Amino acid sequence: MKATTKFQKDIIQKSMKLRPVTKSQAEWAIRECFDHYAYRLKSGKTTCMDCGHTWDTDGKADKCVCHHCGMKLEVKNTQDRKISGKMYFNVLGMTGKYQTMRMFVVFAEMRKGKKAEYNIVEIGQYWIAPNGQYEVIGLRRSMSFYVDCFAFGSGMEIRSNDEVFSFIAREFPLYPKMKIMPSLHIDVVGNKFFGMSPARCISRFLSLPQLETLLKNDTKEVLNYFLNNPSNCRACWASYKVAKRHRYDFHDLGLWCDYIKMLKTCKKDVHNPHFICPENLLEAHDIYHKKVLAIEEGRRREADIRRKEREALRAERENEKFIKEKSRFFGLTISDGEIDVMVLDSVEAFIEEGSVQHICVGTAMYYSKKDSLILSARIEGKRIETVEVSLDTLSVIQCHGAYNKNTEYHNRIVDLVNSNAHLIKARMIA
Ligand SMILES: [Zn+2]
Repeated sequence: MKATTKFQKDIIQKSMKLRPVTKSQAEWAIRECFDHYAYRLKSGKTTCMDCGHTWDTDGKADKCVCHHCGMKLEVKNTQDRKISGKMYFNVLGMTGKYQTMRMFVVFAEMRKGKKAEYNIVEIGQYWIAPNGQYEVIGLRRSMSFYVDCFAFGSGMEIRSNDEVFSFIAREFPLYPKMKIMPSLHIDVVGNKFFGMSPARCISRFLSLPQLETLLKNDTKEVLNYFLNNPSNCRACWASYKVAKRHRYDFHDLGLWCDYIKMLKTCKKDVHNPHFICPENLLEAHDIYHKKVLAIEEGRRREADIRRKEREALRAERENEKFIKEKSRFFGLTISDGEIDVMVLDSVEAFIEEGSVQHICVGTAMYYSKKDSLILSARIEGKRIETVEVSLDTLSVIQCHGAYNKNTEYHNRIVDLVNSNAHLIKARMIA
């Protein structure tokens, strides 16, 4: 995604100038994020899979330290000769005024007798502004069954979906030397980021100053609720403070927030304890739930009326257009004494013809068809078939009874209209 906002353009610039992972970060990641092994054969010959050093053991211990490289190793009795794996790690830092959380993947390739190879690639970055707004810059994810499959050739760009990055940021180890935005007065590290990804946690606390108040003065449950429901925190905060002052018992905060939002929809005063501190929340919730449903129903009805008005207006215009184009044929009836074939003279007449005969002459808008004339063949006023005459050739192009079936009068009607085409022509040149 191309950077479009000022914030996005700024962080893309700064992102390009970030330095690669440091030596100490890389060493920590390799040491802490992976399990390290010593592979031991039945003979007792043991190999450090990290540095390739080989020695003999008596074959009892399941843990050891490599005498050569000092790595703590888990001993495995195996004849395998290689291991490969990947792990992610995260680094919290500051760049200018921004909090960053950089995410790296480490690929490990270990072959017996050789020094292990580790390859570190940066996959994504969270950038958090002092107001808590954040963006993600990262590699594109390739189309794959595995969610964390990144397209390593793709550039580091703004990514709109941070689902996978959020998962990596939350679930994988964090480099212990971290820099956190000094304006954040909350011990997010000591609180283990409240169970969220560090980036999301920092962004939430920066964007919702209410959370700091809650942390100091309220219960863990209340803090957790608003931390995880930021929009309810914003929407209900003023009411919450009033209700709290009146020592209201919030036994179901989620239900109460829904109730407050419904009060707002009903334009009630959400600072008034009379409304916001109901004795029976469940009952009050149900009453306002019904009121909101009624309001929504009213809105739907209103929209329906407006839609019908628009439709009526359109129908009127169509009828006007139809009359302008076809009125010269109105009143024309072709008759053989028994069958009367008469010109349909309004949009309404088309709709009625269509609905009585179960044909699409109305719904398919034959009235707006330029070079055709629609007539209804009737005996003593009863509809028999509907006729379409081409105004180009002055001949019948369609003629059908109810449900588009032909009646016993079909051929008679077609012949009658075709042989009297001069009557239609006369109206055209009149
Ligand atoms: Zn070693």
